[in-house]
Amino acid sequence: LENDKCSAKQIKIKAVGDNVPNALATFDMMKNMYSLSPLLMDNLMKSGYTVPTPIQTQSIPIMLQKRQIFACAPTGSGKTAAFLVPIIHHLSKPMNKGFRALIVSPTRELAKQTLRECTRLCEGIGLRPHTFTKINKDKEKFNPKLAQKFDILIATPNRLVFLLEQEPPAVELTNIEWLVIDESDKLFETGIRGFRDQLAIIYKACGPNTKRAMFSATYTVEVAKWSKKNLDGLIAVTVGNRNT
Ligand code: ADP
Ligand code: MG
Repeated sequence: LENDKCSAKQIKIKAVGDNVPNALATFDMMKNMYSLSPLLMDNLMKSGYTVPTPIQTQSIPIMLQKRQIFACAPTGSGKTAAFLVPIIHHLSKPMNKGFRALIVSPTRELAKQTLRECTRLCEGIGLRPHTFTKINKDKEKFNPKLAQKFDILIATPNRLVFLLEQEPPAVELTNIEWLVIDESDKLFETGIRGFRDQLAIIYKACGPNTKRAMFSATYTVEVAKWSKKNLDGLIAVTVGNRNT
């Protein structure tokens, strides 16, 4: 963790928006204020997460209050748990309604990594994360009925849009409550137009009440503008310098 190099006090956390929830310095404070489940608390401790990282102190309360967020924090600063913890809290338990949270990752590698962390944090809670593997298998497998046994989808935009564009669509996103765009700086960068169009397709498939969260390592005007335009009641959180 890069943040170990400096004490929490030295790290600048800036949060801009209306009624920003207080940053919470410990997981226990989150547990007390927001009734995080003991299972989730156990899983954090088992992962060795005893103290929340700066981005986690601010993003977890924001998302627990169902506010939309644009978060910028350096690579290695714990952004994965920063969005997974509140999502796992909100989804709470399996519902057999199909995917209720969607995390968009720029690469399959990152998607797999996120899946591993998600699986660890969901242990004993029963929520079932999923990521796509083989393209042909997915096409057959992902008729919406069979997807009911999963709760959280972690996918790259290419694969997701491909499945959405099957006739009939091979994946259903109408029950998505939370949409996270991870490494949004990278996604917007790699073919700005391309990703914008993909995001519009994903976004539309999710329905109007989905809460959205953007996470990135660097502050880019592109993502900031998109967030301002598309996230009602947005809170923008920046940890450290804007461009680390
Ligand atoms: P980012 O997405 O910001 O690049 P990651 O979510 O990949 O960062 O986390 C980087 C590393 O820090 C991972 O090995 C993760 O397990 C670890 N980590 C995350 N949160 C904490 C925490 N609260 N305490 C200790 N380690 C943590
Ligand atoms: Mg990350």
